[in-house]
Amino acid sequence: MTTSASIRERIPFIMRDLAARYLPAGDLHQGETALAKIVAEREDPFLVLISTILSQRTRDEMTERASRQLFAKYDTPRALADADPGDLERLIKPVGFYRQKAVQIQKVSRVLLDRYGGDVPATYDELIALPQVGPKTANCVLVYGFGEPRIPTDTHVHRVSNRLGLVRTKTPAATEKRLMRTVSKEYWLHINELFIRFGKDLCRPIGPQCPRCSFTDFCRFYPRTKWGKLVSKTARRAQVHRSRRPSRTHD
Ligand code: SF4
Repeated sequence: MTTSASIRERIPFIMRDLAARYLPAGDLHQGETALAKIVAEREDPFLVLISTILSQRTRDEMTERASRQLFAKYDTPRALADADPGDLERLIKPVGFYRQKAVQIQKVSRVLLDRYGGDVPATYDELIALPQVGPKTANCVLVYGFGEPRIPTDTHVHRVSNRLGLVRTKTPAATEKRLMRTVSKEYWLHINELFIRFGKDLCRPIGPQCPRCSFTDFCRFYPRTKWGKLVSKTARRAQVHRSRRPSRTHD
């Protein structure tokens, strides 16, 4: 695959490579992100919603720890709405802004009870109208809670998509819109899980592990890395060397 390959040609190549690397059975439920693990154990949109709120501005390991502690005691909107706020704070303390998040998850649980009889709504517009639910959270609930194809876009998905030349955008929100126009729907369910895994494992924000990556031929960021610079320096030297060699004559 070269730089001249179109974005539509690149996407199947990228998705196949990442699926082979991170999802040997191609199964979203075998994922390693906190959300994928929660879903693997219990397919419950409510737990996905609460975990996603807890994950905001928080590392994945902390989200998983807090979610497990919380759901061991409170795992329904009614139980969460009636919980002692101090107990909630204690259980979700591993996540950032745990005091505000304790208030928010109680608030959203009460809204679910009041407006939806304790169910989580299954449409983007209804989800986005819930307290503390933005586009990324709504899309995570749709993908992981309801299996509906969407592209939740966090900073990893945004960075990886830009480096791979799939989009040229400034914000995760713009990346999400662009990806939804460019990427065939058959890949939407897996993009979030695969790009996050890739963004944490190889395509890290600082110090990406390019020698282990299959996308150096068309990655926009690679030429700016130490490996990319070394490759172009070597290529330049070889060119100079060739140009200095006396040309052969055939007389
Ligand atoms: S070549 Fe490096 S920067 Fe580019 S996608 Fe791969 S790991 Fe990321």
